[in-house]
Amino acid sequence: MNAIDLRSDTVTVPSRAMLEAMFSAKVGDDVFGEDESVIALEEKTASMFGMESAVFCPSGTMTNQIAIKTHVAPGQEIICHETAHIYLYEGGGIAANAGASVRLIHGERGKITPDDIMKNINDPDDFHCPLTRLVSIENTINKGGGGYYTLEEMQALSRVCRDQGLIFHLDGARIFNAITEIKCRTEEIGELFDSISICMSKGLGAPVGSLLLGSSEFIHQARRNRKQMGGGMRQAGYLAAACSYALENNVEKLKDDHRRAKELGSVLETLPYVDAVAPVETNMVFFRLTEDIQEQEFLAKFEEQNVLAISLEPQSVRMVTHLDVDDEMIEHTVKVLKGIL
Ligand SMILES: *Cc1c(COP(=O)(O)O)cnc(C)c1O
Repeated sequence: MNAIDLRSDTVTVPSRAMLEAMFSAKVGDDVFGEDESVIALEEKTASMFGMESAVFCPSGTMTNQIAIKTHVAPGQEIICHETAHIYLYEGGGIAANAGASVRLIHGERGKITPDDIMKNINDPDDFHCPLTRLVSIENTINKGGGGYYTLEEMQALSRVCRDQGLIFHLDGARIFNAITEIKCRTEEIGELFDSISICMSKGLGAPVGSLLLGSSEFIHQARRNRKQMGGGMRQAGYLAAACSYALENNVEKLKDDHRRAKELGSVLETLPYVDAVAPVETNMVFFRLTEDIQEQEFLAKFEEQNVLAISLEPQSVRMVTHLDVDDEMIEHTVKVLKGIL
């Protein structure tokens, strides 16, 4: 049996049908603006969210970094949560690419509030302080245990940004997981942000690809920055075709990932060696082990029985459900979990 890989939703491999869509893609040189499949994906995604334009990139790190670099001048300041992916996991890109300053917010489960924004805007007339320029949130929130902002919460944050003249960016690596729970229309999210980054290679199961959405003028400049960062791709339509396939076929399946994650969460609640289970809101399950077992020992026992998970902090374990994990695999995982200790 292949390993049941619950380390991340990035481990999926393209299905047969996705590969067929890739094989039959019409491609051209996208740097010349001649790749039909890339253009179709960009137009489809932009219009889905009611945005004017979009640009296809290799990764979500690149879409976030291009967005920040395009929006913010060196020395200006970004407000984000202290556990934000853009800050923690993008290799110091904010400093290296945009030369920007960062104001970090503390808050439960990776969330920031309108009040946090208000309290952290620098006085624009005080030249001692960096000029506050942009607010970035994640939805769903990776280090927030896969939690999400509701539509009302995003609307309230957007209102403050608009009132204060701040740019509002969404790191929507897993925005479709959030939408699966919020059940709003994509346009209702699009209208709240100046730019949105979306990953196709997380729960949606494409092998490579992210999109950055925004106004035509913004995306025009973003393309220049993409080129400068080495992200201009040629016959990228093979990848875009996989992303289009993912958008058409896999968004619907996210609710099954969420159901399976909740099932794992509720089993964990009953186990003696589990100290606490974080609320399971989407496809991520985070739990803490009691003193009875070290996380490395737990992971090793798990792996012996063909299940993979990951630890990001001492005594804490993460499992993520995705397209390549079915009900039978969850059943096996539950059996393994019950048998440890
Ligand atoms: C995965 C992820 C990204 C982008 O990661 P890449 O691996 O570069 O595609 C950005 N933000 C969040 C919250 C993520 O989880």
